[in-house]
Amino acid sequence: MTKTTDIIIIGGGIAGISAAARLAPEARVIVLEGEPHLAYHSTGRSAATYILNYGNTPIRALNAASKAPLEGALLGQSVLSPRGMLLLIKEGDEDHLTDFLQGSDGIENLTTPEVQKIVPLVRGDLIVGGVYEPDAQDIDVDLLLQGCARLARDDGAQIVMSAPVTAITQQASTWTVRTLEGDYEAPVVINAAGAWADVIAGLAGVDTIGLQPKRRSAVMMPVPEGLDMTGWPLFGDIAEDWYAKPDGNRLLISPADADPVPPQDAWPDDMVLAEGLDRFSTMVDIPLVRPTHSWAGLRSFVPDGTPVCGFDPEAEGFFWLAGQGGYGVQTSPALSRLAADLVLGQASELQADVVAALGVERLR
Ligand SMILES: Cc1cc2nc3c(=O)[nH]c(=O)nc-3n(C[C@H](O)[C@H](O)[C@H](O)COP(=O)(O)OP(=O)(O)OC[C@H]3O[C@@H](n4cnc5c(N)ncnc54)[C@H](O)[C@@H]3O)c2cc1C
Repeated sequence: MTKTTDIIIIGGGIAGISAAARLAPEARVIVLEGEPHLAYHSTGRSAATYILNYGNTPIRALNAASKAPLEGALLGQSVLSPRGMLLLIKEGDEDHLTDFLQGSDGIENLTTPEVQKIVPLVRGDLIVGGVYEPDAQDIDVDLLLQGCARLARDDGAQIVMSAPVTAITQQASTWTVRTLEGDYEAPVVINAAGAWADVIAGLAGVDTIGLQPKRRSAVMMPVPEGLDMTGWPLFGDIAEDWYAKPDGNRLLISPADADPVPPQDAWPDDMVLAEGLDRFSTMVDIPLVRPTHSWAGLRSFVPDGTPVCGFDPEAEGFFWLAGQGGYGVQTSPALSRLAADLVLGQASELQADVVAALGVERLR
């Protein structure tokens, strides 16, 4: 039997679930997720960090607009906790520094001794200083995602797991979405399928947006007993060659890889991990030991690196919520608010140039 609703959302990552939370008070919403669990792909594999000064201009506007919701305005409790971010500057990193400082707020320039006060094991002879963003935060991603799922369900949304979408057709103004769990129909389909967003467009006969998933890997490595990492920020190379972040008595270390791959259940490449760990250990005096585990996830980008949020101009009722790259968790409160406002025909609180920068038209 076909189930009829107002809005079908494809994808049970943070994009789809936060959009469901925003829309459910106003409309009947069904979320279709192909996996048996929410957040199985990119959302469950992130570094869980909020960095205000990360990304291009529209992304920074989304970061800023997401801060208050992440601090409690969305769920009634904060999902953030203090972390800080320290970027190391080597000789020859001037261009990276200029790019980073452009449009940045609240950044402190540090000398090498000041860097070593924050992370004492950084090799002072290899750097000329650093920049510090004290306000970077850890995000409790599970709390955010489950909180949004709860809000959505409390307002009547249905979240259907193990329901991979296999076909999408449109007749008159109604989309019919076929899954292994049954058929669903609605006038609006939100494509929040992460790395698979172009695949979903292909199923619907809608032009694609040139989405490129890029693999990013990480390991969790124990540190020597007695090494006190209390107060250490996320730290890395300003050239984004690697970064590391304390997690209890272990360090999350990422080679900051960005290898283009097809949409897939991503896994790390041993050589990429080894090379990244080598870059880390050149700069930081911590002995490398066997990681407890490693993983990889996909960060998906369109060519200009800006997320895509808006109705497709050529396919009535087909809405894109994709291309969040490495910012999809921290921008989810603002992007989901915008998605809901556009779907419901409401004015957005974001500036018009930001809304335009996120639109689909620029990609056609
Ligand atoms: C290593 C790493 C570190 C990162 N660090 C950060 C960070 O610190 N801060 C930050 O903000 N972001 C970070 N990101 C980026 C962030 O994880 C992503 O931008 C975000 O999770 C994207 O969310 P999503 O919901 O669009 O995608 P996903 O979480 O991948 O969700 C998409 C969902 O769609 C489903 N789907 C696909 N096709 C179908 C289909 N045919 N039928 C039904 N369902 C389907 C998938 O199963 C999936 O669950 C990081 C990413 C990686 C990989």
